[in-house]
Amino acid sequence: MSVPANGYVGRFAPSPSGPLHDGSLVAAMASYLDARACRGRWLLRIEDIDTPRVVPGADRVILQQLQALGMHWDGEPLWQSQRLAAYQQAFGQLQAQGHVFGCTCTRAQVGKGPYPGTCRNGLPEGATVRAWRFRVPDGSISFDDRWLGPQQHDVAREVGDFIIRRADGLWAYQFVVVVDDAFQGITDIVRGADLLDSTARQITLAQALVVTYPRVMHVPLVLDDNGLKLSKQNHARPFDTAQPLVTLNRAWQRLGFDTLSNLHDVDDFWGRATQHWRQRYPHLIY
Ligand code: GLU
Ligand code: ZN
Repeated sequence: MSVPANGYVGRFAPSPSGPLHDGSLVAAMASYLDARACRGRWLLRIEDIDTPRVVPGADRVILQQLQALGMHWDGEPLWQSQRLAAYQQAFGQLQAQGHVFGCTCTRAQVGKGPYPGTCRNGLPEGATVRAWRFRVPDGSISFDDRWLGPQQHDVAREVGDFIIRRADGLWAYQFVVVVDDAFQGITDIVRGADLLDSTARQITLAQALVVTYPRVMHVPLVLDDNGLKLSKQNHARPFDTAQPLVTLNRAWQRLGFDTLSNLHDVDDFWGRATQHWRQRYPHLIY
């Protein structure tokens, strides 16, 4: 019989732009262990909203990869491509409360820095809106990252009003992730440190949508031989499922633990790794 779930709800939210690699596995592993250590639920969300980057069939490959490593998610995965009505509704809510504005700027006009606020105070009659931006409130956002410690970001100064609906009509990652984390009742986000920068933006959106933002933990990135983040864009190879224990132990070491030896099988790995995770985060146990 399975242990009843308590209030913890974690998630792994891969983008199906290719198979999982050693870098994505580190984030998946930390998220899975945290949920197991808390006897919580672990949900899967397929972030297939950025359709030009979606590789057909990659979602199925990802599910198979997780299964091959003995990682079991709770319930049915959620596909963002099925959630368009919810995004439209959340957008309408923001719009009704004056939290968004239409922007006519091209990429070249905005440049590389923070959005200069060009369209913030209204557009000339008949202007063609390209993208929709979130009106970022002034002030700084503070949060405690469970891996990296206290963080503080001034989104208005560092990023400015950011895009939530792109010029190509697609919803931006920052927006849909907040809508979906709230919808799925996520209490804890555990993901790669490349998304640390996004957290403050997401908190400003959560505040505007009047939803609770989860606790966060950002785990170290895996770098390639050139010091670049392992990523699908850099053509990282899928992780090896032929030798699951070797693959698991490599990710485990990257989380700062010693290799587990004399393992019988993947279930044995997860059982022992969960014990170690509980010892590292004893305050997590309900
Ligand atoms: N889909 C994102 C990615 O694969 C992760 C989103 C998240 O964990 O918030 O990089
Ligand atoms: Zn603009």
